[in-house]
Amino acid sequence: MKVAIYPGSFDPITKGHLDILKTATEIFDKVIIAVAKNSEKQGFLPTDVRVKLIKESVKDLANVEVDSFEGLTINYAREKGASVLIRGLRAVSDFEYEMQLSQANSALASEVKTVFLTTKPKYNFISSSTIKEIFLNNGDISKFVPEAVNDYLNNSYKC
Ligand code: ADP
Repeated sequence: MKVAIYPGSFDPITKGHLDILKTATEIFDKVIIAVAKNSEKQGFLPTDVRVKLIKESVKDLANVEVDSFEGLTINYAREKGASVLIRGLRAVSDFEYEMQLSQANSALASEVKTVFLTTKPKYNFISSSTIKEIFLNNGDISKFVPEAVNDYLNNSYKC
């Protein structure tokens, strides 16, 4: 059974993330989408809210598990018996950082392979930081995020 981890901040999850996740579920037997906890960076939404919003957004996908983790991604992958890390690529600007990260992970754990996926063109420009910017300036984010995120931010989020 091929298990893949899709690690990230998901602060919040977007339709770009979801598109990558769906593609990954068609390739691998199980995909664990996991929020990386960063004690140095506070972020926009607390980890438990990010996890809750992901869970609500992936209800229709059978082979997905939602989780969070602390520490090195490769250690988490080993703990979960995963041999693949999924990362997404948008523009050339992502490339340098993602390449560095995958090479560092490969140097630490050569048995864990990074697989890069891309989204449909319509989701390509979406990032969590763009969403935050639009939302905090009273823009409509409904086209860019799953319904659960749109509802949560519009109904429960307090600035
Ligand atoms: P991180 O802080 O680890 O980069 P993110 O939640 O920002 O976490 O992103 C997780 C992964 O998803 C990254 O590999 C990022 O490049 C990818 N990603 C995010 N949005 C998109 C998108 N619209 N198209 C393709 N990949 C994306």
